[in-house]
Amino acid sequence: MKYANVIVDISLEKLDRTFQYRVPAELEDGLSVGMQVVVPFGNGSRRLTAYVVELTDQCEWDPERVKDIIGIAEKGIRLEGQMIALAAWMRRMYGSTMNQALKTVLPVRRAVQEKVKRNLVLAVPKEKAEEACRLFEKKNQKARLRIMEALLQAEDRGESLDYGNALKDLGVTAQTIKPLTEMGLVRVETDTVFRNPVKPSEVEPHPVSLYPGQQEIVDGILSRAAAGDRRPSLIHGVTGSGKTEIYMELIAAVLKEGKQAIVLIPEIALTFQTVLRFYKRFGDLVSIMHSRLSAGERYDQFERARKGEARVMIGPRSALFTPFDRLGIVVIDEEHEGSYKSETVPRYHARETAIERARMSGAFVVLGSATPSVDSYERARTGEYQLYQLSMRVPGRMLPDTEIIDLREELKAGNRSIFSARLRELMEDRLSKGQQIMLFLNRRGYAGFVSCRACGHVIKCPHCDISLSLHTGGRMICHYCGYQSAAVKKCPSCGSAYIGAFRAGTQQVAEQAGKEFPGARVLRMDFDTTKQKGGHEKILEAFSRHEADILVGTQMIVKGHDFPGVTLVGILAADLSLYAGDYRASERTFQLLTQAAGRAGRGTEKGVAVIQTYSPDHYSVTAAAAQDYESFFRQEMAYRQLMHYPPASHLLALYLMSEKEEELDTGAGILRELAARTAEETRREMRQTERNVIHMIGPAEAGLAKLKDVYRRVLYVKCGNLALLLAWKEKLETELGREERLRALNIQFDMDPVNPF
Ligand code: ADP
Ligand code: ZN
Ligand code: ZN
Repeated sequence: MKYANVIVDISLEKLDRTFQYRVPAELEDGLSVGMQVVVPFGNGSRRLTAYVVELTDQCEWDPERVKDIIGIAEKGIRLEGQMIALAAWMRRMYGSTMNQALKTVLPVRRAVQEKVKRNLVLAVPKEKAEEACRLFEKKNQKARLRIMEALLQAEDRGESLDYGNALKDLGVTAQTIKPLTEMGLVRVETDTVFRNPVKPSEVEPHPVSLYPGQQEIVDGILSRAAAGDRRPSLIHGVTGSGKTEIYMELIAAVLKEGKQAIVLIPEIALTFQTVLRFYKRFGDLVSIMHSRLSAGERYDQFERARKGEARVMIGPRSALFTPFDRLGIVVIDEEHEGSYKSETVPRYHARETAIERARMSGAFVVLGSATPSVDSYERARTGEYQLYQLSMRVPGRMLPDTEIIDLREELKAGNRSIFSARLRELMEDRLSKGQQIMLFLNRRGYAGFVSCRACGHVIKCPHCDISLSLHTGGRMICHYCGYQSAAVKKCPSCGSAYIGAFRAGTQQVAEQAGKEFPGARVLRMDFDTTKQKGGHEKILEAFSRHEADILVGTQMIVKGHDFPGVTLVGILAADLSLYAGDYRASERTFQLLTQAAGRAGRGTEKGVAVIQTYSPDHYSVTAAAAQDYESFFRQEMAYRQLMHYPPASHLLALYLMSEKEEELDTGAGILRELAARTAEETRREMRQTERNVIHMIGPAEAGLAKLKDVYRRVLYVKCGNLALLLAWKEKLETELGREERLRALNIQFDMDPVNPF
């Protein structure tokens, strides 16, 4: 017997209300999630159309009282149906309730009027506005005239008018504004929405002509798409090789066919510069989303897309759910970025989810990066993705030279400063020439790892090959298996006493730079200095106007803006991300170092990148310095295979959280038992061989063992067989729902985690 859970209203916050119906035998084969069905509703036999959100064998009600589905309402799955089917896929893949998944993919309509600052702007060129003024004058429409004149004056000053103030100052009402917006003369905008900064006359449909390497890729992707080859494309192109131009060319081709495009960009790269390039090419067809939008504003952006006013949506992760009904392409730039993995339930990965959405809607997916994720590159290697390479910068621009500085030697030479002798020498040189410098602290992870400053030795877990973290009370802990040992006083490798937790902050670096280079103007960009809205943008703008000589920052400074004046990049301690205590630390380090080095020499002058490290022989460091992705990939993949980490295997993390530590300890034990029992059952049911075992590690303290008074533990589960792993997860989720003793715990799943927890 099969049952279908349906929702009858997807437009409001009614997603929680699902109703269960029986699937009659004749419909069993034809019915799938996302379809619209006709159901009898309420006491009378009112008929309603509803969306199927889940098909199940479990009857949640008295079977006597469950009614039958009457029939399928519409054969083809409409857009909403497609999004519901996508939510169902996300639920199954990443672990969440159907309701949580639905809320992620379906934007919620604005329920209450939000308090947002609204601006009034001209929506037409000046001449048109003046023409309108003359017309209003003739017709003696004084209120309208006042508004238009005020807007023209504001435009001359380069300002916009605050909506509320304008009403008051001009003595007009919303009733006067409305016809003006309807005539297309005036636009009401909220502050958080990017304004189209480009006037219609400035749109250039073909700003550059592609060089042969670019054109080949565009042709290749388009001809594969035309031939029905739906495999995602991965463009591996060094920074500044012209990937963005390729994306725009592909989007133009898609638009020509009357289809729509989604472009995902990491939030930090979503700066004015990038946005401007898309507006210049596609004008008003572009719509931008970013994470500062409120739910209502996001809904408005989605409405523009639904109505066909916007046909290119650019934004971070959540822009993937733009309700385009004729989606042609999804571009994911910087596809390796950790921000594509959601940090709330369902913890979906935008890349995998984009591929699933594209599969449903017949779109094609293009991934691009200078440093592809190991996951994507492995898929390209096995033929699941089609690989394209761009190995050179746009003609006329050179990659920087890189130098590795061994910090152990600096210590030996008596230099305890954060700047090596070589870096200091180069900084002096650049400052004397009036060129700019970026100093980069690739801080990642939470707790400090323990390393020796004399020989570079790092203390690692004997079971997991992950660095141990120093916790208060002098314990060193592995965040995968829970292994612990007492903090060491002497280096086990060389006997030196210079061993301890490795810590450094941007503030100290900025202060030190100011001290050692008096007269140099230093700017700092990190979490603290960018807290206010627009803080990030302001610092970057100031630096690009050369209002400072040195910019000190974390990974934030790696992306977005181009700084042609920067000829030196100093990476102060490559080790900071190298031993972050998770299985992706080497990958992240390679990416950060490569991207940071790529910031040097974006102008015409060749740049230099200096990488300071205690691990000059680590492959992440040497491969990044040599700009040799292949070599990095081979060694990293060998490590993943050896340790059964993704993409060699799947790794499902279960995060356990509670405010009560004892409850968490007991719960962790119960969960471990439950997980082991259900794993054994699933394996037997699926008749899996020993090779496909479900292997459990932990539960151990999380990297961040306590956050906002909530204690955190992690249970890791490795399994090479995805079908088996998902079947087990499904069983476990059902059991968790029944297990009274685990009620008090917050338990979340994370499939193939990307960011440290
Ligand atoms: P990526 O996305 O790979 O970092 P971009 O597309 O941003 O590279 O290109 C880097 C710079 O080179 C940009 O300023 C871009 O306008 C310019 N550029 C890209 N392709 C060409 C081309 N075919 N001819 C001239 N300039 C180009
Ligand atoms: Zn040592
Ligand atoms: Zn371990």
